Amino acid sequence: MTGTAARPTAAAGRGHEVADEHREAVEAALAVLLDGELEPVVDMVLTRRDGAYEALAHDGRVRFRPDGAGGWVREVEGADPLADQSTGKFSPLDAELAAKHPHRRDNAYPFAHEQVAQLFDSPAAPDLCVIHSAAHNWEDQGGHRGEHGSLDVVQARAPFVIAGKGVRSGGLVPRAARLVDVAPTVAALLGCAPLDDDEGRYLRAQDGAVIEDVLDPTERPRLVVGFLLDGTNANVLYDMAARGEAPNVARLVETGTAFGHGAMASLPTVTLANHTTILTGAHPGHHGILHNAWFDRATGRQIVTNSSATWPTAMRHLRPGVETLHDAVHRTWPDAFTASCNEPCDTGADYSTFDFFRRGEVPPIPDSPEGLPHTTERFVRPSKDYSWSSVVDHMGVEQAVGILSGHYRDASYPLPRFLWCNFTLTDAAMHEGGPHSEIAAAAVRDCDGRIGEVLAAVERAGVLDDAAFFLVADHGMEETDPECRGDWGVALAQAGVTVRDEGYGFLYFGV
Ligand SMILES: [Zn+2]
Repeated sequence: MTGTAARPTAAAGRGHEVADEHREAVEAALAVLLDGELEPVVDMVLTRRDGAYEALAHDGRVRFRPDGAGGWVREVEGADPLADQSTGKFSPLDAELAAKHPHRRDNAYPFAHEQVAQLFDSPAAPDLCVIHSAAHNWEDQGGHRGEHGSLDVVQARAPFVIAGKGVRSGGLVPRAARLVDVAPTVAALLGCAPLDDDEGRYLRAQDGAVIEDVLDPTERPRLVVGFLLDGTNANVLYDMAARGEAPNVARLVETGTAFGHGAMASLPTVTLANHTTILTGAHPGHHGILHNAWFDRATGRQIVTNSSATWPTAMRHLRPGVETLHDAVHRTWPDAFTASCNEPCDTGADYSTFDFFRRGEVPPIPDSPEGLPHTTERFVRPSKDYSWSSVVDHMGVEQAVGILSGHYRDASYPLPRFLWCNFTLTDAAMHEGGPHSEIAAAAVRDCDGRIGEVLAAVERAGVLDDAAFFLVADHGMEETDPECRGDWGVALAQAGVTVRDEGYGFLYFGV
């Protein structure tokens, strides 16, 4: 299985490490970031220099590099910041609630070596990557009550459920996967042809592995539908499903296999980096969508991918040769039809919501959420984000349901081989109120209702028994502590350190 695979990356030896001329500035920044003043908000700082990766915390550090045999050579000084990489920590929900805002010494950082290494494989990687603490509330810097982005287990932990034809029924099981494993597993489930290489991979940039034991290779579905519930805390989702508050998710959990410890997002555990990871099986440092925003040294420009203005063209930053699940389907069945609803990572899809924008059109979005099904009025009215996300998610469902019926707007569609539905409401609500809030629960209920609409459309299409489904999120969501403020940007400026900070935590020197 996946969990243990820490295969050094193909790109090792390339990527980015701190340049000689920036050593002094980097040391000055580290002195500030690892000072006691910032201890409550900085778990650790990651870097790559002198041919090795480093994780540095206030009371210890570890240097590591691949040992050439699938493991790592490590040198530890003081306390090892990456000592605990367990995937099951703070799960299920009561364990998370009993240990809110864990200190880094009590926290876990799953697959940390692999995660740090893949990030610095990118030539656009920062000089320093600051990992904020679980408690850190940076609402003053544009953050929220609920947060993600860290390497820690709660912020990395996305739910992962897979069910239907060709999937073994195991229910909720106490085990973990990685988001890089999702696309290869779905490609194998569909029966896509493996690449002509020695490793039996399904996608050209694949870092993940097929989770073989959840699949029944004697059965192949005609259709696979994927649901992404952005920013959904896995413990919260599984708990609501078990309590009957998310009956459609529960149906998938009961008939399929749900990874109780989740599927771990890749670093940085942010939206578009991990949407792309789910759909390509590659880490952000390898597929090219490094973060929601980063700095490209090659062109001397800031790249912003995750904003409404840039979503339609975000995939131009995908590295050449990186394949999506849509591409894998088409390589096997050139005439197969695939569809992507409400998803910026849509490369290779025959139908995509973002095609409307690229054609210079606006897709038919309702003016307001008034009267739409599965919208909790109590939160639609006061919350602008809840309202906007409800409208957008409703539009996505209309497209998915229309395509499954054979008609959407004025066009006809064949039955897809792969249909992808992305929902944004859960992220908006879990950011706004934190993952354990009423607004978060309302968002899960609303999204569950929308999933139900898609399941009903599959049934009406007469292919429910010939279909498989998977549900995933792009990262976890952790409740921050409003008392835990602080801003490393201010501390660095006061110390006279000149640095460019992208995405809050990607520090670039000399640019
Ligand atoms: Zn997200």
